[in-house]
Amino acid sequence: MAHDYIIVGGGSAGCVLANRLSEDPSIKVLLIEAGGRDTDMLFRMPAGFAKMTKGVASWGWSTVPQKHLDGRVIWYTQAKVIGGGSSINAQLYTRGNARDYDAWETDAGCEGWSYRDVLPYFKRAEDNQRLVNAYHGYGGPLGVSWPVNPPPISFAFLRAAQEAGIPYNDDFNGAVQDGIGHYQLTTRHAERSSTASAYLRPVRSRPNLAVRLNTPTLKICVENHRAVGVEVGASGGIETLRAEREVIVCSGAIGSPRLLQLSGIGPADALAAAGVPVLHDLPGVGANMQDHLDLYAICECTGDHTYDRVAQPHRTLWAGLQYLLFKTGPVTSTLFETGGFWYADKTARSPDIQFHLGLGSGIEAGVAAMKNPGVTLNSAFLRPRSRGTVRLANADPAAAPLIDPNYWSDPYDRECSLKGLQLAREILSQPALKPFVLAERLPGDGIRSEQDLIQYAYRSCKTDHHPVGTCAMGAGEGAVTTSDLRVRGIDGLRVVDASVMPFVPSCNTNAPTIMVAEKASDVILGREPLPAAVV
Ligand SMILES: Cc1cc2nc3c(=O)[nH]c(=O)nc-3n(C[C@H](O)[C@H](O)[C@H](O)COP(=O)(O)OP(=O)(O)OC[C@H]3O[C@@H](n4cnc5c(N)ncnc54)[C@H](O)[C@@H]3O)c2cc1C
Repeated sequence: MAHDYIIVGGGSAGCVLANRLSEDPSIKVLLIEAGGRDTDMLFRMPAGFAKMTKGVASWGWSTVPQKHLDGRVIWYTQAKVIGGGSSINAQLYTRGNARDYDAWETDAGCEGWSYRDVLPYFKRAEDNQRLVNAYHGYGGPLGVSWPVNPPPISFAFLRAAQEAGIPYNDDFNGAVQDGIGHYQLTTRHAERSSTASAYLRPVRSRPNLAVRLNTPTLKICVENHRAVGVEVGASGGIETLRAEREVIVCSGAIGSPRLLQLSGIGPADALAAAGVPVLHDLPGVGANMQDHLDLYAICECTGDHTYDRVAQPHRTLWAGLQYLLFKTGPVTSTLFETGGFWYADKTARSPDIQFHLGLGSGIEAGVAAMKNPGVTLNSAFLRPRSRGTVRLANADPAAAPLIDPNYWSDPYDRECSLKGLQLAREILSQPALKPFVLAERLPGDGIRSEQDLIQYAYRSCKTDHHPVGTCAMGAGEGAVTTSDLRVRGIDGLRVVDASVMPFVPSCNTNAPTIMVAEKASDVILGREPLPAAVV
């Protein structure tokens, strides 16, 4: 079958596009995903997240040694499964701040991407369990719900944060982002709502939509400066697939610049260094990488207040039964359902720190686990000034890319990260948490001086898994795509995923990526954009 559109990467963005582009039965769409199916129960259960950063359905990549983190190499989970990040993430549904998107338009020149322009696309995607107002809607594909039964310690955390001076907020995605509260989650009826389950599965039987799993794309085929198809790895060797209209790269903030560079599209010097013939010199590809770096404090609890002991075999069995029979209990928890947004830099115009309360210790790869039940408070600095790169190690499509977020290359980021950690420690020490928290174990009482905290950060920091910016859209010199997501200098080729965001939004990045793909679908099909919101 000939395909009009070939979508490379069936992640958060790719599944949205597969659905929206194939709504018209006359348009033939092929979705190609390197990873496999998401049928294991782990993907469906919200608490399945506990396994996800440890290698399930992931590419298995790490960063290069981080120059400004004392040479630390950080494990860097990126999804390799249908649904991509939305199938393995912690399911937090956050949109960031209106100013984030306004800056895309005013500072990066992304015409049509201001907050008032993008809000209707957040709403179109959404099937909100509770809220219908200027900011929220229902009836869209993506389930958005509240935690089913947050444990008492999470409410004590809300009180403690207020004691520390941070106000309560029951909708970070509404008029005001600031404050502390329970997160909305991409879940529906206590099951993960990934783009695979919400967008792709319901339309899998469309005759004009083909999906190929376990199929890595090796290269974009370009003839006379026009993308005409892709080469994929297949059981019989390499197969070439042709696109009549466009190739749309949705391979994620690491995968998309990687694929463009493997195809000879990128900075000429970096391509030459990797041994890839230069097809089109485009310096912005793989540059401008931004990510949220996470620091955390861990406390030992006074008792069984979090989910650490659910890992014991008899408790796991009971939790599983509770979930299967009644859809209640620990398995309904994404393990990070409480948190909020506040300020490291008091002069910032919108929050620059995000908190995630982890209902246990050792939940994520690389984070210390404790013998007794623990509780973790993550703090991430949201508007980094550091910029990194994604480059090829060599011309082999199977080789891991060189991922260099270049964390803390700007000292401002370090200063704000450390202030965020300080805020986290302050919250954990408030009276409201006294009945639940025995003592801080990490960084630990002895670690107070700036130098000690920096050393602690070097040892323990981790990614929040929010890379963006590596195929940035915009009007400037370094922009890879135009505001309608076309790759500059190559016809018939677009990028649609987190990599096109010129600046990382002040939040987790799944909902913003889904918004990008929703809006892109109208752009690609030449439809009128949704009317700008009045807020
Ligand atoms: C562990 C983790 C936890 C996170 N937690 C949250 C959270 O709680 N809330 C939130 O909002 N965000 C979270 N995020 C971030 C969010 O999930 C991502 O920003 C989002 O999924 C990015 O979507 P994408 O479409 O850009 O890329 P992805 O969803 O990563 O999709 C890219 C897809 O392309 C495929 N691909 C790549 N290269 C090729 C190739 N050459 N050929 C074929 N296929 C290819 C990949 O296998 C992948 O499936 C988390 C991310 C991770 C990894």
